[in-house]
Amino acid sequence: MTSQNQILFEKSQRLIPGGVNSPVRAFRSVGGTPVFFKKGLGSKLWDVDGKEYIDYINSWGPMIVGHAHPEVIAAVQAVAVNSLSFGAPTGLELEMAEAINHLMPSMEQVRLVSSGTEATMSAIRAARGFTGRSQFLKFEGCYHGHADALLVKAGSGLLTFGEPDSAGVPTEVAANTLTLPYNDVAQLEALFKQSGDALACVIIEPVVGNMNLVKPNPLFLKTLRELCTKHGVVLIFDEVMTGFRVHLGGAQALYGIKPDMTTLGKVIGGGLPVGAFGGRKEIMSGLAPLGKVYQAGTLSGNPVAVTAGLKTLALIQAPGFHEQLAAQTQKLVDGLMAAAKKVGVTFSAQSVGGMFGLYFSAECPNCFDEVMASDRAAFNTFFHSMLDSGIYLGPSAFEAGFVSAAHTDADIAATVAAAEKAFAKVLSTKQA
Ligand SMILES: *Cc1c(COP(=O)(O)O)cnc(C)c1O
Repeated sequence: MTSQNQILFEKSQRLIPGGVNSPVRAFRSVGGTPVFFKKGLGSKLWDVDGKEYIDYINSWGPMIVGHAHPEVIAAVQAVAVNSLSFGAPTGLELEMAEAINHLMPSMEQVRLVSSGTEATMSAIRAARGFTGRSQFLKFEGCYHGHADALLVKAGSGLLTFGEPDSAGVPTEVAANTLTLPYNDVAQLEALFKQSGDALACVIIEPVVGNMNLVKPNPLFLKTLRELCTKHGVVLIFDEVMTGFRVHLGGAQALYGIKPDMTTLGKVIGGGLPVGAFGGRKEIMSGLAPLGKVYQAGTLSGNPVAVTAGLKTLALIQAPGFHEQLAAQTQKLVDGLMAAAKKVGVTFSAQSVGGMFGLYFSAECPNCFDEVMASDRAAFNTFFHSMLDSGIYLGPSAFEAGFVSAAHTDADIAATVAAAEKAFAKVLSTKQA
């Protein structure tokens, strides 16, 4: 029987490149037909064939209070009747700036945009305008959206003059992007010694969620902060994913490090398109109309999107919210580790707040090369077995996973039970 998923995917591929509006959704990494969804509620999703799933993608992070949370939906409905957009200021944007500044005091001034990509792109422009410098540093395997200068492949060696990662990015544009391996203090020190005074900024995922999950070595973040201060380099924490997910105050609160600028997205839109960038007032006041750094957006600060975000931020400030989320995520990780051990599969897993990483390797990785060394074939077997059992994980061995406040003990137990079967399949596939 041909499923509705297959029919929709077939038709979509004729009109939409690869059948999808964002590449990872196409299941290219794991193979098979992507799942087309029609409904979500709490921790659950239903696809167009009516199959139910426990969702560990949560729209890649935004759905931290679960899908279709009644309070978020009601707030969106109530504000929508007053028009969907003005292209002029509203009090809601001020409320959002206040909420962000309250939760992340390092963001002395904030500007709202409509995606994480816009936030990082604009933050780098602000840093360049502020310092008058062109070059910036990013780390291998960190994703900061799809702006040209940020799509730069990591290379080995002390200092890699950027090679564009994507066709369509001119070499000249990528040439100002330097890359280094994540968590490598010695290479960081060497690069700053050589070129620190030429860097406008360093942009980093303070916990990496875009090459599976990679935790920062605390000394690495501390050294980075010190070097940026010493050389007058703007330190940008890209907290589009980690913001309000690893801790109420983001990774900067979790690790006690104050960046000069921060970029946000995902959770602050509660599932609608919102991004934000902000930081030290002296940097942000360089933006137009005050300063010479141009930045704008027709739908920036959109009232409906900001309302979904504000309600989500209100819900996650409930006492104990993040402790509970972190505990539930750790319960999942512990359950999966125990299941793998029982079956005898080489596997490791870890979590930070409401994010987790699963690895078919003996140890949790510390950098891109170690992530790449994990057993991808084993992941793909595991992924498809889990999907058959109604467990929806990111369709690639290089994506982090996300738990929401709606995930119950029963969800975790069902996931671990499915994983035991999936691990057994990994083992039998290997032996075959
Ligand atoms: C998702 C993500 C982005 C890009 O955000 P979009 O809204 O997809 O443009 C940037 N940085 C990080 C760390 C992300 O996880």
